[in-house]
Amino acid sequence: MLYELRSVGHFTDNNRIETAFISEGGGISVGRKQRVLLNEENINVRRRQLRRLRLSLLSRSGVALYGEAATKRRFSLATISGLFVLMLPPAFAVGQTACRFNAKLLEFEGSPVDQAKCLLQPVLKGARLGGRLQDLPTPLAALVGQPLSFTKGRFRRLLKARDVVEGDLGGSVDQNVSETEEGKQAQYFVIHDTSSPYLDSVEFPSNINQDTWDGNRLARWAQLKNAHVYVNRVGGSVTAENFSTPWRATKLEVVQVGKRARGRFLHVESVQPRRSDPLGPPTNDLLAPLPGFSDAQLQRLALVYVAASLREGHWLIPAFHAVIDSGFKDGHDDPQEFDLQKWALFVGKLNDELR
Ligand SMILES: [Zn+2]
Repeated sequence: MLYELRSVGHFTDNNRIETAFISEGGGISVGRKQRVLLNEENINVRRRQLRRLRLSLLSRSGVALYGEAATKRRFSLATISGLFVLMLPPAFAVGQTACRFNAKLLEFEGSPVDQAKCLLQPVLKGARLGGRLQDLPTPLAALVGQPLSFTKGRFRRLLKARDVVEGDLGGSVDQNVSETEEGKQAQYFVIHDTSSPYLDSVEFPSNINQDTWDGNRLARWAQLKNAHVYVNRVGGSVTAENFSTPWRATKLEVVQVGKRARGRFLHVESVQPRRSDPLGPPTNDLLAPLPGFSDAQLQRLALVYVAASLREGHWLIPAFHAVIDSGFKDGHDDPQEFDLQKWALFVGKLNDELR
């Protein structure tokens, strides 16, 4: 007997479906990525099983299941057989999106600062949103959309002083960021959390902010290719795809706008485990650790933001994944417990040092 597993939520961060089959004996076969979207009647979604599958696949073969490049990659995994793919009608936004996106211009409405006020609104448990910000925390209001005021040379000196490898920040700052097929450069710096590893009902380990915790092993995340860059909880990062590579990872890009959106958004995942809320539905992943992100992690995320902005020439518009996905069926809930004030403070400190 084969169990069909379909992924939603964070398993496929871009709403693409990897159809996977697990036999009763534990054998796994995986279908190539297909643009197949949701049909609740046919799909038996088992998020917990999917997470286990993801880890199992990684440990067994290092196969990358995610991201657009994965279609070109050969699955080294055992058997790719007996595959069938359900062709289902596409899913569309089912409610009002929090921030209106102009698909023609490939941008949200308003000035860069206005856009950020909407896109950085608090993301609460279960993807509820806290409402548009009245003000951006200092110094984002003065920076977002403005040109950077320091050189690449100055930035490189800072990296050298801190022993940071430029390539771990999304690639060389000499390269441009990605652009769309219409030649529009990336404008959005999308902040995600991995929502993984999933611990089910187990408490968060006490060492999640230490090197000894397996979730901080960057090589493991780099294989996923689900985002451009991954930031771990001890302040390290790894480039899975160069920021020059056009990539999509939200429902807005994949489901609503389509290929024209590819290249307009940069995606950065920060490692954050999740566990289930005993008050929630079975196998939910509603709970994030408190605080959600370590200081070292927010500092590295700030550095990645600076590097990406430097490559574009202006301070990019930061955005939370859950806000972008709001109004979409099965929209994501990340990042949870993100301390925007603190992150902005770290961005400001870097900017002060670099000027
Ligand atoms: Zn996300």
